[in-house]
Amino acid sequence: MTLRFTSLGSGSRGNASLVEFGSTLLMIDCGLPCKVVEERLRAVDRQPRDVTAILVTHEHTDHAQGVATFAKRHNTPVWMTYGTASALPTITSTRHLSSHRDLTIGSIAVQPYPVPHDAREPCQFTFAAGGRRLGMLTDAGHVTPHMYERLGVCDALALECNHDLESLQRGPYPESLKARVASKFGHLNNGQTTELLARLDSSRVQWVLGLHLSERNNSPDHVRAALQPALENARFPLHLATQDAPTAWLALD
Ligand SMILES: [Zn+2]
Ligand SMILES: [Zn+2]
Repeated sequence: MTLRFTSLGSGSRGNASLVEFGSTLLMIDCGLPCKVVEERLRAVDRQPRDVTAILVTHEHTDHAQGVATFAKRHNTPVWMTYGTASALPTITSTRHLSSHRDLTIGSIAVQPYPVPHDAREPCQFTFAAGGRRLGMLTDAGHVTPHMYERLGVCDALALECNHDLESLQRGPYPESLKARVASKFGHLNNGQTTELLARLDSSRVQWVLGLHLSERNNSPDHVRAALQPALENARFPLHLATQDAPTAWLALD
């Protein structure tokens, strides 16, 4: 059995990812319309009923808009923090998690960790199974020492590359939104993700997947150019998720 990951779609208009080990299939966020998530599941050869549980990182629409419908239609348990649950009262199958306590769902060990983002009680996760660990991080304004600790011992990383700072500053967003995105409780820009990668011990890292790229304030070329210094000495490939189609399944060997 192999720990695997795919992004069903990622960006400002919606995010959903899958982590799988054996018969355990976790969906991280369901931030696209339910019907779209069902289609994307089939596109990666899985059925909605295969989903063991949904974990919701925070209540923003691009992470939560499909959760209530999907969970109701497929009878799927939903895990999130108390703060996130308090912002999503229409979800009826909620189970609470603490962002400071590990939990096990099926055959996957889940380690939540808190992140600085402008939501009630946002968290992100690392996942471990079969002797491999995957670290996931999106929707964070900066990287805290605790986050470095959590992501420091991973075999693969799925990391936010939200914006190119210069493109954001010169781009079409209103000033208030630019300030929000760039704030310490906003989103990680390419430079911040590069610094994170450079500071982590990447000797075990098999691949990196870039998530949550802004369509207006970023591009695959910007991400690759920014991350180049961090990638130069590394052996791992960089994959980039897109908004409108799933990535291939990425396995941890
Ligand atoms: Zn988001
Ligand atoms: Zn968010």
